[in-house]
Amino acid sequence: MALFPPVVRRVMEIISGAGYEVYVVGGAVRDMLLGREPKEYDICTSACPVAVLTLAAENGIKAYKKGAAFGVVAWILEGQEIEICTFRTELYGDDAHRPEKVEFVWALEDDLARRDFTVNAIAMRPDGRIEDPFGGQADLKAGILRAVGDPEERFEEDALRMFRACRFVAEYGFRLAPGTKEAIARSLDRVAGLSVERVRDEIDKTLQAEFAAKGLELLRDTGLLATTCRGRVNGRTVALPVLPEVSRLAGVEQNPEYHQLDVWEHTLRVVAGVPSDPVLRWAALLHDVAKGLPGTRCVNRRGFPADYGHAGRGAEITREILERLRFSPSFVRRVTWLVRHHMNHPRPTEQAVMKWLRRLASDFHGRTALLEAVEQSLVLRKADILGGKVDPARVLAENERLREVVAKVTSQVPFYAEDLAISGGEVAELVGRGPQVKQVMDDLVVRIQGGHLENEPAALKEAVRKRAWRKQMLDAGQRSANRG
Ligand code: ATP
Ligand code: MG
Repeated sequence: MALFPPVVRRVMEIISGAGYEVYVVGGAVRDMLLGREPKEYDICTSACPVAVLTLAAENGIKAYKKGAAFGVVAWILEGQEIEICTFRTELYGDDAHRPEKVEFVWALEDDLARRDFTVNAIAMRPDGRIEDPFGGQADLKAGILRAVGDPEERFEEDALRMFRACRFVAEYGFRLAPGTKEAIARSLDRVAGLSVERVRDEIDKTLQAEFAAKGLELLRDTGLLATTCRGRVNGRTVALPVLPEVSRLAGVEQNPEYHQLDVWEHTLRVVAGVPSDPVLRWAALLHDVAKGLPGTRCVNRRGFPADYGHAGRGAEITREILERLRFSPSFVRRVTWLVRHHMNHPRPTEQAVMKWLRRLASDFHGRTALLEAVEQSLVLRKADILGGKVDPARVLAENERLREVVAKVTSQVPFYAEDLAISGGEVAELVGRGPQVKQVMDDLVVRIQGGHLENEPAALKEAVRKRAWRKQMLDAGQRSANRG
């Protein structure tokens, strides 16, 4: 079996053919040893960047300097980009992430020593032989994430490694090596120098990973969620909280009549209970973010805690968080919508569902978006119910019935003009071009929803003709009244 894909083999053959050392390193080796398909192949070599560029030119391969300062060159072969970096060490200064200085070196081991974790510091030769000076294979077997060298020093150098640690725990289910958690706790102030986008990307990956709950728990437990990073606001660099709103949820009690867990434990279950989709995972993380807040939290008549209006308030907080973390407007809108609506589902009757969908329809531009959001809200609700409700069976059955009724209603009833069995052009032929076309079509939608009309071409044309005729009569009556 071929070890590397053909493109990677070709790159390695060219570089080693010219007399340089060349290896696949980092994530690809880690994933290959775990029997996972690597996402990308990073290559490192003893050849200096100029030599790497020259070799590409000699072989008719397009190449460019990627991170010039870091000695990274990219080759483009068969539409794929392969990164090739020259062996280097890094020297860190005040910046929380970027090295102050890099130096090219001759030995592979010096390059591996600058990498974050032992499992990411394994190299593979073109023939598959492994170079593993820091015991990465043993850690991989044991499922341990261990810093290369002293964890505190490594986190002080580059604060992003703390978030990467949580992300790898979430992606691979690793345990942290002894002392790593404590090292994170001691380096938290370094997060202040990280850009919000970098931090956001790591949390986002953590949230979508297979063991997301494990990674999130670590993010909270270490204190990383309660730290502050930085970002540009109106041209100025300001401090931006990472996720204190979420960190706060641990220990927030819920009504024991309905819930078995505190808000944080419940949130983790809901995150793990929805599929790995960015909108769903963020909505799961934030759906109860307003619980326990002053103004939302109260004590009900039976003396138990309750959080009236937490969905609406949670939606506002969600918007604030996601905008602060620089998510796209459409992403913010979709997640916020799910949080806002996570409590108001109708009874599973056709009438109630119709009313509910009609109300929701105005939030979307068309059927596809509406149906997708409604389906996501049912998926989120299922995970919400399974995430520690006292008596899930009844509500769960109701949720399934609701899904069936939604499918039935949406298959029969239009919610937008575009769902009609008559086109805008056909309506215009009957009533003339102009704004009245949309008005007529919206009327048709409402009449079909009310059960007064079939969504069927002949019936719709007939209805439009009658309407046009009635309008003519009315207008004529109006004119003669005006004259008289
Ligand atoms: P992924 O599967 O997410 O791509 P990866 O391990 O390949 O994981 P990359 O960010 O692609 O991660 O980086 C490639 C390699 O570069 C890593 O395996 C690691 O050896 C090294 N590396 C990346 N970021 C850092 C960092 N912040 N500090 C030290 N080494 C790093
Ligand atoms: Mg990678």
